[in-house]
Parts: sequence; structure tokens; C-alpha cells
Amino acid sequence: MQTIEGRHAFITGGASGIGLAIARALLARGASVTVADWDQARLDALAGAFHAIRLDVSNRAAWGDARASAEAAHGPVDILCNNAGIGPCRTELTDMDPAAFDRMIAIKLTGSFNGVRCFAPGMRARGAGHVVNTASMAALYPQARLGEYGAAKAGLAMLSEVLRLELAPHGVGVSVLCPGLTSTGLPQTSARAAGRPEPEGTMPGIDAAVVAERVIAGIRGDWPYILTHGERRDAVAARAHTLLGAFDLIPDSTGASA
Ligand code: NAD
Repeated sequence: MQTIEGRHAFITGGASGIGLAIARALLARGASVTVADWDQARLDALAGAFHAIRLDVSNRAAWGDARASAEAAHGPVDILCNNAGIGPCRTELTDMDPAAFDRMIAIKLTGSFNGVRCFAPGMRARGAGHVVNTASMAALYPQARLGEYGAAKAGLAMLSEVLRLELAPHGVGVSVLCPGLTSTGLPQTSARAAGRPEPEGTMPGIDAAVVAERVIAGIRGDWPYILTHGERRDAVAARAHTLLGAFDLIPDSTGASA
């Protein structure tokens, strides 16, 4: 998408952290912005800067009203950022509360699919648009105690790659955002979602505004992947090496049969 000015962006999880930073960056480029979040207190704190909608992305039935409200405010949505998410519960998969696994998949993976089903048909019909799906570095290589988080994020990365293939002929771009550690309200959000007391203090990481600038460049350049932490390159390469190495274990493999 060459121009952001005059476009309408819809950002889930836009009332805090990376989503809010993306909302501000798009607004600064002349886009109109709808922010959707399930946290009413955070939405109230935005104080009219954006069109704000309360939405739980995992509630498929609620998306129709959210779209109607967004379109009434700013017209058809050109840029969809499926960004809403919660943090990992940080237990090993073997011991994990199934409710924590289900919650993660419902919000991050199914919630993003819900956004695609809601807005991508309109983009395809108009022959223009861009979808940014916020995954994570955890989508790109395995990390212990990030099982449900990595599974949802890796699923979202593949969903995005397939969507990109399907929408490219219709002039619609798709990017996967895979940030590394970013200083946001994620620990507090995760505690609220799990009904735990909220931790105090800020989490370490880069500034969310830096991530948002990468997103602006990624939308403009129609990048398939938007990355933020170059120091993770070796870990991703090691995973790719393991995957490709599996082909060498096929007896008499010429590579042709795959
Ligand atoms: P954050 O907690 O500051 O923002 C997330 C927002 O999403 C919150 O406002 C929260 O209320 C909202 N949200 C959560 N579940 C929702 C739901 N079901 N429906 C609607 N809104 C919901 O955290 P953040 O770090 O900015 O997280 C944004 C995205 O970035 C998440 O998908 C997260 O997994 C991803 N991410 C974060 C980091 C990091 O280090 N902070 C790294 C990689 C990926």
C-alpha cells in the first residue's frame, strides 16, 4: 500500500502497547483510526483521539457490530491490524492448564481469523488494502515455557502467509509482525485475562513506538515479515537448518519427491 494518508485503519488491542503505538503512527500519517479493545478503562483513557470500540476479538458474533460502528465513523476499512493478545502463562505444556491454552488460541489465532473474515472480503472486492497480523519472535523458533503462545503465533504466521498468497492477486497485502521483547502492558493484560492480581512495574524491551515505525515501513513496502530484533537471526536460522536437515534423512532423497 503506497499511501497511508486518508486510509481507515482498524486496530485490535489498540488501547495499549504496540497496538496503541501503531494507532498513533498511522494517525500521524493522516489515516483515520478505529481502535478496538476489550478493556473499557483503557479505551476511556484514549480521550477521543481515535474512534474507540469495545470488542472481544474472540467473540465472533460481536465483529459485525464493530465493523458497522467503524464504517459509520470512517467508511470502509483499508488497513486491518490483528494485534490483540495476551502473554504466555509460562508453564510447560505437559503441566499447562487447558483453559490457558484454549484462551490463547481463541484470542490470538481464532480472534485474528475473525478479523480477516470480517474485513478481508471488502478489501478484496475493492481491490486494495493491507492486513498486519501481530505474531511474535516466538512464532519463528521454539522457546520452552512459551508453548501455547508459540503455537498460536506460529499458526498466525502460517495463516498470514496463506492469506498473502490468496489476496495478492486482488491487490491486498498481508504482513506478519514478529516483534521481540517490547515494553508494554502485556503482563498486566495477561493477569487480567487470567483473573490474577496485576503485577506492578513495566516490562523490559524496546519502545513500542520503534515497532510501530517498522509497521509503517512494512505496510508501505508490503513486507511479508516485519521484524524488530536482528539479534534473533541465528536462532531462526538454527530452526530453519533443523527443518531443512529433515529432508536429508529421507532415504535416497533427491528432493524431487517432496
Ligand atoms: P498490551 O497488553 O500492552 O496490549 C494488548 C492489548 O490487547 C491490551 O489493550 C488488551 O486489553 C488487548 N486485548 C487482549 N485480549 C483482547 C481481546 N480478546 N479482545 C480485544 N482486545 C484484547 O501488550 P502488547 O505487548 O502491546 O501486545 C500486543 C501484541 O503484541 C500481542 O499480540 C502480543 O502477543 C504481541 N507481542 C508482544 C511482545 C512484547 O514483548 N510486548 C512481543 C511479541 C509480540
